[in-house]
Amino acid sequence: MLDLLNLPGIKPVDIRTHSKGLIIIAETTDDRTPDCPDCGKPMHKHGKRPNIFADTPMQMQPVRLEIKRPRYRCDECGKMSTPELTFLDEKRRATKRLVDAIRERCLGTTFRAIAEQTGVAVNTVKNIAHDLIKELEETVQYKTPVIMGIDEINLAGAYRCVITNLATNNVYEMLERRTQEHLKPFFKKLPDREKVEWVCSDMWCPFKPSFAKYLPNAKLVIDKFHVVKMASEALEEERKQYQLQLSKEDRLYVKKSIRWLTLKRPGNLTQRELEALEIVRKKIPELAIAYNFKEMFFNIYDEPDKQSAQSVFEAWENSLPEGQLKKFHNLAKTVHNHYDDIFAYWDTPFKITNAYTEGLNGLIKISNRMGRGYSYDIIRAKTLYSEEARKVGSGIRTGKGKVEYGPHIPTLVKQAESGELD
Ligand SMILES: [Zn+2]
Repeated sequence: MLDLLNLPGIKPVDIRTHSKGLIIIAETTDDRTPDCPDCGKPMHKHGKRPNIFADTPMQMQPVRLEIKRPRYRCDECGKMSTPELTFLDEKRRATKRLVDAIRERCLGTTFRAIAEQTGVAVNTVKNIAHDLIKELEETVQYKTPVIMGIDEINLAGAYRCVITNLATNNVYEMLERRTQEHLKPFFKKLPDREKVEWVCSDMWCPFKPSFAKYLPNAKLVIDKFHVVKMASEALEEERKQYQLQLSKEDRLYVKKSIRWLTLKRPGNLTQRELEALEIVRKKIPELAIAYNFKEMFFNIYDEPDKQSAQSVFEAWENSLPEGQLKKFHNLAKTVHNHYDDIFAYWDTPFKITNAYTEGLNGLIKISNRMGRGYSYDIIRAKTLYSEEARKVGSGIRTGKGKVEYGPHIPTLVKQAESGELD
């Protein structure tokens, strides 16, 4: 029979098809009786025992390998032994080449799909994946970001902390939670931590009291995205109060939700939408005022330098009407509470923001699609070690070799949307 297995030490003697795939019967080729490993005396044949192992699929079908392995017994000391076959992973009941193939695919597809393709139990695939993840944890080290983003995304049932490289747009690390207990050990063991120059986060992050000591050369900048979001939220509060004033007729004409019209920047609206917005502004003058304050606040970030940005903010604050627009007054207070860190935006080498990280919220779709059995650890590994995303824009060549910055965020987002990370 043709040796379709190409595995050292065995040869196929029969092949059968089975409802779940192919069964290949094989025999060992080396029939020399070994010496006893304990006492060194020659051993004797003691029957054959079929062992079942999974092997790589053939003809798109799972393969079960049934190897008739000789057993030997030592008459002297009673020792029983079965000669080792180097291509087997005895613990996984599979050939090493199959385990390798599963390792290569397990972070890129569902465990169930791999189990179906190979005939290996789902739990075995999961165990192989966990071993691989442990190995990756120990061996993969991305370059510490000079400009670091710290943000939260909702993933596998909770808010997770995502550390990003904002200069290269890569994910650097994911932590189970964004709490001091998780962040402190992360900063403590961070390599090259003196190289971090900027940390971009939202207002929650207790960077200064808690983490600044670990990053001696880093300055904090409050993420623009989170600051302007407060202006949008303030406008939302106003809109909820006023939109009921619109007549049914006007509402029909406006068609698009007022929420959408008012939250978008006017530059992103079509001519038709701008007209609809104009109607809203005319019919609800109170909302028009709130809208103007939202837009004026966004415009602060269009200023070319820090001083003019601060002047625009001051003018904005001074024109807020007394006793009205409470949420906008609160926003002004928040800006004062984080004044230096918010206006540090104009001190950074380029305009940095965590806006991209927000796109990673799409990863939640993956955990939903994959269903139960996918822990945070697996989703983290799929994200952090995604081969595809690590290839894109994440490595540069230096004199010493390849430097990796981590998976590329826009690629991860694309993969999550297309289902490639499942
Ligand atoms: Zn012996």
